[in-house]
Amino acid sequence: MKHGVSRWLPLIVLLGVAGCGSQAQQSPGASLLTPTITPVFLLPAPLANPAGGPGRAASSATPSALAVAPGVTVTSAVPILMYHQIKDLPANASADDLTWTVSPKSLDAQLGFLAENGYATISLDQLLDGLAGRATLPPKAVVLTFDDGWKTQYINALPLLKQRKQTATFYVVSSYIGYSAYFSWAMVQEIQESGMTIAGHTVDHASLTGLSLAQVERELRDSKTALEQKLGLTVAHFAYPNGAYNDAVVEAVKHAGYRSATTINPLSVKNPVSPYLLPRLRVSYQATLADFAKKLP
Ligand SMILES: [Zn+2]
Repeated sequence: MKHGVSRWLPLIVLLGVAGCGSQAQQSPGASLLTPTITPVFLLPAPLANPAGGPGRAASSATPSALAVAPGVTVTSAVPILMYHQIKDLPANASADDLTWTVSPKSLDAQLGFLAENGYATISLDQLLDGLAGRATLPPKAVVLTFDDGWKTQYINALPLLKQRKQTATFYVVSSYIGYSAYFSWAMVQEIQESGMTIAGHTVDHASLTGLSLAQVERELRDSKTALEQKLGLTVAHFAYPNGAYNDAVVEAVKHAGYRSATTINPLSVKNPVSPYLLPRLRVSYQATLADFAKKLP
C-alpha cells in the first residue's frame, strides 16, 4: 500500500471504524448513509533524515512534504483534536453516540485545561506556516476541529471558544447547511466572523474512496465553491468524510486547491508530515480530563 509519502509507513489497519458514526442515522437524507470504512492507520517512519526523507534529496521535496522549520524538532508535536456533536447524552446512549459526542461540560473543562496549561489554539494556516518555517509556532500549540456542521457546535462550542478567545476549524458539509440539526448559513457566517476557520467536508459527506474520480472532483469543487460564494471567503482546508482516502483522493484534494486535509488517524502532527494526511485525535464522551490531558504532548 502506497500513500505517496515515502516516510510514512502504513502499519495497522483498523477494521470496522467509521468516522462520524452518528452521521448515518441523522443525515438529512436517506441517500447519505455512509458505509463502514476501513481507515488506514499511519505511523511515521524513522525521522533520521527529516528534511528530505529516505532516498530523497532535501531540495526535491514534493509539494506534499513540508520542510522542517528551524527550531521545530521532531520531538515537537502539535495535536489536532477532533470533535463532532457537542451535547449531553442520555444514560442509555449508544456506543456510536458516545464515540462521536462530547458533553458541553466536558468541552468547557477541556478548553479550560488548555488555557490554564499554556496551550495556544492555532489555525490550520498557522500550523502549516509554522511547519514550513514561515511563522513561529507557540511552544504549546494545539488545533481544534469540529466536523460536519452540527448545530450543537454552534450552540454549545462557539460560546466557549469565544469566551476564552480560542480558535477552531469547522468542517462544514455544504448541502447539510440549513437542515434543522445543522448550521444555518447565518450561523456559518457568525462562526467565521468570530475568528474561526470554515473548511470543506464535501457536498454530502460522501466517502470519497467509493466514488469515481469525476464524482470526487465534484464533491471537492462544488462544496468549496458553495461556501466561498456564499461567505466571500477562501476555503483552504478539507477533512476526509469518514477518514476515507487513497492516493487518487489525496491528489484530487490537492488539485481542487485545498491547502491541507485531515484524517481520523489518531496521532499528533510531527515533522515532517504531508499536509494532506494530517492526523487527528478524537475526544470521546467518556474521556476524563486526565484522559484528555494524556493526549497532549
Ligand atoms: Zn464528517
